[in-house]
Amino acid sequence: MSTAVVLLGPPGAGKGTQAKHIERRFGLVHISTGDMLRAAVAEGSELGRCAEGYMKRGELVPDELIIEMILERIARPDCGKGYMLDGFPRTLAQAEALDASLAERGGRIDLAILFTCDPEAIVERMSGRRVCPTCGAVFHLAHNPPAKPGVCDRDGTPLVLRPDDRPEVVRKRLEVYEENTAPVAEFYRKRGVLAEVDASRPIPEVTAAVDRLLEAVTRDS
Ligand code: ADP
Ligand code: AMP
Repeated sequence: MSTAVVLLGPPGAGKGTQAKHIERRFGLVHISTGDMLRAAVAEGSELGRCAEGYMKRGELVPDELIIEMILERIARPDCGKGYMLDGFPRTLAQAEALDASLAERGGRIDLAILFTCDPEAIVERMSGRRVCPTCGAVFHLAHNPPAKPGVCDRDGTPLVLRPDDRPEVVRKRLEVYEENTAPVAEFYRKRGVLAEVDASRPIPEVTAAVDRLLEAVTRDS
C-alpha cells in the first residue's frame, strides 16, 4: 500500500516548507489545498471565483467545494506512489469525508503530523513570508531568504507577500484555525496516527523530526 500522510497545524507553522522537503526526500506527492485554490483563482475558473472572497477574508472555503476537489485529486494515478495533504482536512466534516472515501477503497491515513508553534512565532513567520507567484516556492525574509533578495531561486520571478498574510487577515485565520481545525487533530489522535512536532524550532531541526516520523511510516506501510 502507498503511504498517505496529513500535515496539520496553524497557518504559518511551516507545513508547506516541510512538505517540499518530504516530497524531495520520500517521493510523496505534495497536495496543498491552498495552492490548488490559488491556482483556481489565478485561472478564473468557477471554483476560483467561488473561493476568492473566502480566502481574502481568511475564512474557510465551503466544505462541499473542498471535499470534491480533494477526492478528485487523490484519485489521480500519481497518488498511487503515496501522497501528503497540506491544509486539508481543516474541519471535522472534511476529515470524516476523507476517512469514508478512503475506507471504501480499503485505504486510510497512515500518519498525521501536528506542527505546534507559538502564536508570536506564527505572526512573525507570516509577516516575513514571501512566495513565488509562478511556482509557489516559499521563502522567509530572515529564516529562509532567497539567494538574490526579492526574487525566486527557481525561476527568477519577483516574490510577493500573500494578500492573506496581512496582519488583520492573519488574526482571522488563527481564530478560524482554533475553532475549526484544532479538533481535527483529536480526530487523528483517537485513530492512533497522530504525532506532534515542535515547529517553533529552526527549520533543520523540524526537518530532522519529520524525517524520523516519515522513515518509520514509509518502512511500515
Ligand atoms: P504553512 O504552510 O504552515 O502556512 P510555511 O511553510 O509557508 O507555513 O512557513 C511560513 C513561513 O515561515 C515561511 O516564510 C517559511 O519560510 C518560514 N518557516 C517555515 N518553517 C520555519 C521554521 N522552523 N523556523 C522559522 N521560519 C520558518
Ligand atoms: P493555506 O495556503 O493552506 O494557508 O490556505 C489559504 C486559504 O485557502 C485558507 O485561508 C482558506 O480560505 C482556503 N483553504 C485552504 N484549504 C482549505 C480547506 N481544507 N478548507 C477550507 N478552506 C481552505
